Amino acid sequence: MQLKKTEKRLFGTNGVRGIVGTEMTPGLALEIGLALGTMRPGTVAVGRDTRTSGPALASALKAGLLAAGCDVVDCGILPTPALQFLVRAHFDAGAVVTASHNPPEYNGVKVVEPDGTEMGDEESIALEKHIFEETSRMAGWERVGRERAAKNLVEEYVDAVTRAFPPSIGEDMTVVADPGCGAAAATTPEILGRMGCRVYSLNCQMDGTFPGRLPEPSPEGLSPLADLVTATGARFGVAHDGDADRAVFVDEKGNFIEENVEFGLIADHVCRGRQGVIVTPVSTSRLLEVIAQRYGCRVVYTPVGSIYVARTMIALAAQGTPVVLGGEGNGGLIYPGHQLCRDGGMTAATMVSLLARTGEPLSSLVSALPHFTFMKEKFREKDPRGLIARLADHFSGENLDFTDGIRINRGDSWALIRPSGTEPLVRVMVESASEEKAHQFYEEIMGFVRK
Ligand code: MG
Repeated sequence: MQLKKTEKRLFGTNGVRGIVGTEMTPGLALEIGLALGTMRPGTVAVGRDTRTSGPALASALKAGLLAAGCDVVDCGILPTPALQFLVRAHFDAGAVVTASHNPPEYNGVKVVEPDGTEMGDEESIALEKHIFEETSRMAGWERVGRERAAKNLVEEYVDAVTRAFPPSIGEDMTVVADPGCGAAAATTPEILGRMGCRVYSLNCQMDGTFPGRLPEPSPEGLSPLADLVTATGARFGVAHDGDADRAVFVDEKGNFIEENVEFGLIADHVCRGRQGVIVTPVSTSRLLEVIAQRYGCRVVYTPVGSIYVARTMIALAAQGTPVVLGGEGNGGLIYPGHQLCRDGGMTAATMVSLLARTGEPLSSLVSALPHFTFMKEKFREKDPRGLIARLADHFSGENLDFTDGIRINRGDSWALIRPSGTEPLVRVMVESASEEKAHQFYEEIMGFVRK
């Protein structure tokens, strides 16, 4: 079973996104609202992250939905996974005004299907078609929708995450949360507190200028988090991107945990005693395969993008295959028993449960994992498809995988060369169990590319 990527004009890997005022305008938000309202009549939930442009864009989006005849429930500022959870429980569709991890000048819209998953390729193309061909339907005066606010609904999400774990599992555990002034300010510290943890937080004021750090939770922006973790004797620090579908961690010594290592740790916790499948894109570390094999699980690969992971999980489950975990090597993990989308709050809560079970310092758990050398590069390329074809030819004697771009599997090493979904760039990733082999493989690929 293989999902294929298809061309979209407005939608990228995770919704529509762009710089506010030029690419992402209230006009476009209105068009998206009208088109979504045409496709998904009924009651639509709308939420947003903390960006300064959020109120203007959300108002326009709601105007479109109402004009198309949908009723709108405004859930206010909340994480994308919280809105996804609410849509699956109560609504006919949803939309979140967010640019996720992008800098403050960006904003966008993620569209949510009735089952809580992000809108897939085919439906996104149909939505774009309504916009470009101006086929959205406008309701008459007697059919326009009504709006109500339900800012307290987020409580249901916090409850659901907390209830997925035994009560007070985090007792005696000190933790630090850094929502980065984003949407998780209202949820993650609350979730951790209800699990019994003593919670310190920073960047917990909702502020779309992101004064503490950028919405991308990269290691460079997390030194205040690391400092607070060591100063308070916390077991870990957790940080989110702007809309909190992703979570990243620092250990008790304040060291950043690379996201593939995080995925491996969580998989080692979640797969214990369960047999089934882990779904992840071809860009994820082989560490995951090593962990899966420990428990008799296996890894199923998808193209890069969380919607491909979620849709593959749904398809596998429909065929009767037990799916244990899904996710990407960027801190975006999917827990199928909870919901079929990436959930940063759930990942923070899972880390509490992991540490409560092992009783060990997070840094020891990290150093006990097998080590892989991971190298990344990106470069401009006018003809990415031509390059992939030339690579396929050059490496034709090897084990090749064309799920997304080209992946060359060579023993305990692999390389992935794939065109970016959003920019005229090609991304190269190389990984090996041996540092020397990783460098050699990387030079081999880059040597060919430079020619
Ligand atoms: Mg995000």
